[in-house]
Order: sequence, then structure tokens, then C-alpha cells
Amino acid sequence: MEKPLDTALVWFRRDLRTADHAALHHALKAARRVWCVFVYDRDILDPLPRADRRVAFIHASIAELDQQLADLAAARGTSGVRLIVRHGSAAQEVPQLAAALGVQAVYTNHDDEPAALARDAMVRDGLASAGIAMHTSKDHVVFERSELLTGTGKPYGVFTPYKNSWLKKLEPFFVKAYPIERHAASLAPVPAAHATALPSLEALGFRPVDLQALNIPTGSSGAQRLVADFMARIGAYEDTRNFPAVKGPSYLSVHLRFGTVSVRELAALAWQHIQEAPPAQRAGAQVWLSELVWRDFYHQILHHHPRVVGACFKPEFDRIVWEQGEHADALFKAWCEGRTGYPLVDAAMAQINQTGYMHNRLRMVVASFLVKDLGLDWRRGEAYFALHLNDFDLAANNGGWQWAASTGCDAQPWFRIFNPVRQSETFDPAGKFIRRYLPQLAALPDAALHAPWAARPIDLASAGIVVGRDYPLPVVQHDEARLRTLERYKVVKGSGVAAGEAAD
Ligand SMILES: Cc1cc2nc3c(=O)[nH]c(=O)nc-3n(C[C@H](O)[C@H](O)[C@H](O)COP(=O)(O)OP(=O)(O)OC[C@H]3O[C@@H](n4cnc5c(N)ncnc54)[C@H](O)[C@@H]3O)c2cc1C
Repeated sequence: MEKPLDTALVWFRRDLRTADHAALHHALKAARRVWCVFVYDRDILDPLPRADRRVAFIHASIAELDQQLADLAAARGTSGVRLIVRHGSAAQEVPQLAAALGVQAVYTNHDDEPAALARDAMVRDGLASAGIAMHTSKDHVVFERSELLTGTGKPYGVFTPYKNSWLKKLEPFFVKAYPIERHAASLAPVPAAHATALPSLEALGFRPVDLQALNIPTGSSGAQRLVADFMARIGAYEDTRNFPAVKGPSYLSVHLRFGTVSVRELAALAWQHIQEAPPAQRAGAQVWLSELVWRDFYHQILHHHPRVVGACFKPEFDRIVWEQGEHADALFKAWCEGRTGYPLVDAAMAQINQTGYMHNRLRMVVASFLVKDLGLDWRRGEAYFALHLNDFDLAANNGGWQWAASTGCDAQPWFRIFNPVRQSETFDPAGKFIRRYLPQLAALPDAALHAPWAARPIDLASAGIVVGRDYPLPVVQHDEARLRTLERYKVVKGSGVAAGEAAD
């Protein structure tokens, strides 16, 4: 069949791979000649610190994407196929390049973050004024936007019915890979006027970082290594996922964030495991698939309720008065720097500060601690994570913080307050994780590690530790902080707490 278009441009954003790529597939199918572009968007990059693991991750993944495109075309005898890379404001660069190449359409995948939607509206306008169409596709999630609605046609605000509906709708069609090779002959050599070498990290204004030392693999090849490693242990996921010292989760979040792996591929693998593994090993894959559903859930929440960026999902919680002033600032600094005096919290903050990753259980613990022990606005913690997480994703991060702060949809009830010592004893019983990140406490016996201020003097002495000198005294007393929090939230709810009071 004759292709309807002569030329098209594929704009890569948070989908840095060629395999199972919706926009690339549609463009290759539709046009006789297809070029590909990635823009290092100055509107996003310029405000970032000059050493940023995300930028380095993208940079390495872009080099691999460039090679993948060249290889795909070379396998069909075409040379000179490259990724066109620009450094500027995407809102201007994409329409300019599309016009200069004379393409008839730009293909790209959905990005439903409010800032991305605003940028895409500008690009669409710019293209339209040059008579160029813009086609967008779902790629980042399995089900998006309004694909799943309640019986009354409303967006879901509660996870479990959303998940049930998600699982009910899941058919092989929705996780089937988009074939790319079949149409790769349409990849066209880059015209000389647009062919430039990939910019170095330094040319983009960034310093190299420690991804290799941290053993964070980049690009689709890195994602596939992690997929293979995880699929061999997915059966144990349910039992291991809550223990930060254990290799339980997949560590795929940064790859899902930047699309170096397809979520369809992952959902299909989990689904296959659920169907084919011996019954005793299915639960792990079921729970892991649920995590992918949480990801979709928070994305549709952001799509339907963009006001969650900056505001509580439940508006009545916007009346909460958070701690402010110098003392609050000092508490926030202690939290950021891992100096709260609660070892699990401090070890978790050391993990994010040193690696850009934090285990999910610990994200819940430190978020709860910031909000319900320190009395600080969840938005302060959300912003800190946004700056430091390699896998920072607006929808998941906002959802996670609002869950922990009890301000979100289907959140932790407001009267549930994690006890940081009990969390530590339960999820790091032998203190393996704490010792890894707080070596100054390593010599304490296991039982004393979770609350050094309460350790027996003999244990402290034999470990050579003076609390307040070698490790901070607690910045707050949990029991007192808990009561203050119940009071703070009671104002909002205007109700007593006794009936639902709980602690974890
Ligand atoms: C306060 C807080 C902030 C968070 N911020 C982010 C964030 O910015 N980016 C992010 O990707 N995840 C975030 N999460 C969710 C979760 O902690 C991470 O996805 C997970 O720890 C990543 O590790 P993994 O890839 O090994 O996860 P796995 O356990 O292997 O899970 C597989 C994938 O499922 C998705 N996922 C898992 N849990 C969740 C969840 N609760 N919500 C949404 N998606 C989930 C992720 O894409 C993850 O890679 C946050 C959670 C909390 C409590």
C-alpha cells in the first residue's frame, strides 16, 4: 500500500529507545522518509544543577539511541541515518527543524505533565502555522487519560477499583509490541545541513557524574540487563520488596521514567509470569504488576487533576498549618542532610543523596517523617525528591508524597503515623541497610541500632559512640511529634482521633 506521507519527523522525549515505540512505529508506517530528533530542552535543563545524574543518564541513552537508529537502517542497507540532536527551547526548535526539513507531519508520544502539555500546545501551533501536522500517541503507560473510567463515567480516585478495572481491560492487544524493524526502511539519512555530532555533556553545560561507579546502567541495553536480572527473581518480589538491604525490587524506575524500556514489555512479561509460573511463584509477579498499575493510576490522576501540582488532592487539607520559620528550616535541613537522629531516616537520606535512588519503603518512611514527625509541608519534601531522584516523575512523586501526607487520593489515613523506630526494627532488623549508609554506627549491636539515644551506655561505650557527638540526638521525640500531628490534622478534620488512632 502506498504510504500517505512523503516525509515525517519523530520527536523523542521520555521514550529513549527504538524497540516497541509507538510514535516511531506510526511515523515509519505512514511516511516514505522519516527523520528523528531529540532536543536537550533548555527550558528544562537550564534551572538544574550543573552535575545532574538524570542529564547524564539521558546523555548516555541518547548516544545508544543514535546508534540503534543507525543500526536499524544499516540492516536495510541505508547509511547516514542518525538522531538529529538540538540544544535549545523545544517549543521553537521542533517547528523550526520540521519546517527546515520540509516534513508533512511530526510524530511524538504523549507527555501529560502540565508543563509538557503547554510546551506541546506551542509546538502544535508553531507547526500548524507552517502547515505541518502533529500526531501524538500513548506510549508511556498501559492505560492513559480517560481509557478507564468508573461506571458513572468519572475518573477513578481509589486505587483498588481502578486496579480491578485495569486488570479486567488488560488484553494481549494492549501490551503488544509495536513492530519497528518491519518498517525501518523508511529511516532516512540526515541531510548534510542538519547532521551534527552529538554534543558532549560539557557542551550542554553539565559535568560528568558517577553513574558508572554507582552501577546505574543506561540506555535500552542497560534496561534489558535489569529486566533479565529482575525476571529471574520476580517470584520473590512480594517477600523481598519491603526490605531495603535486600535486592528485592527491579530498579527499573529510571528506565521507565526516560522510556529506555517499554512499559508494555514489562507488563507483558509480568502477565506471562502470572500465567505460566508454578502457582507458588505467581504472587511476586502479581504484586509487581500492581506497582505498574499504581504508576498508571497516578498518571491518570495528574491528567484529570492537574491542580495536584502544588495543591492537596483533597482541598480541605490545604487548610493545614505547617511548621514555619527558622526552627522549621533547621529541621528541614537536618532531614535533607540525614541528621535527624533516626538512623533509618538518615540512612535513607544518605541513599538518595549518594545515589539518586531511594527504596520505596524508605520513601514512605522519610516522607511520613518529614510531614508527621517534623510537621513540615509535604511540598518541601516533594521538591527535594524532584531535584535528587534519578527516577523523578511528577505524577508518581506527587502521588507518593500526597499518599504519605494523607492529602492525596486513596492516601494513608491522616491518623496513621509511621513510627520510625518500629519501621526500622521491622524492615531492617539486622541493621544491614543502616550500617551500609551510616558506618559511624556500625559497631552498635543490632538491637541498639534503631534508636541509638536509647542504647545501653555499655553498648555505646564499647562501640566508641557518644550520641550528640558521633551521631545526632533525635531532632524531635516521636511520641510528642505524633501528638502534635494528630492535633494539626484534627483542626482540618474537625473530629476526634480516638476511634481511628493508629501507629505503624
Ligand atoms: C514519597 C514517594 C515519592 C516517590 N517518587 C517517585 C518518583 O518520583 N518516580 C517514581 O518512578 N516513583 C516514585 N515513587 C514510587 C516508588 O517508590 C518507586 O517507583 C520505586 O521505589 C522505584 O524502584 P523500582 O524501580 O526498583 O521499583 P519496583 O518495586 O521494581 O516497581 C516497578 C515499577 O513500578 C512503578 N512503581 C512502583 N511503585 C510505585 C508507586 N508507589 N507509585 C507509582 N509507580 C510505582 C515504578 O515505575 C517502578 O519502577 C515514590 C514513592 C513515594 C512514597
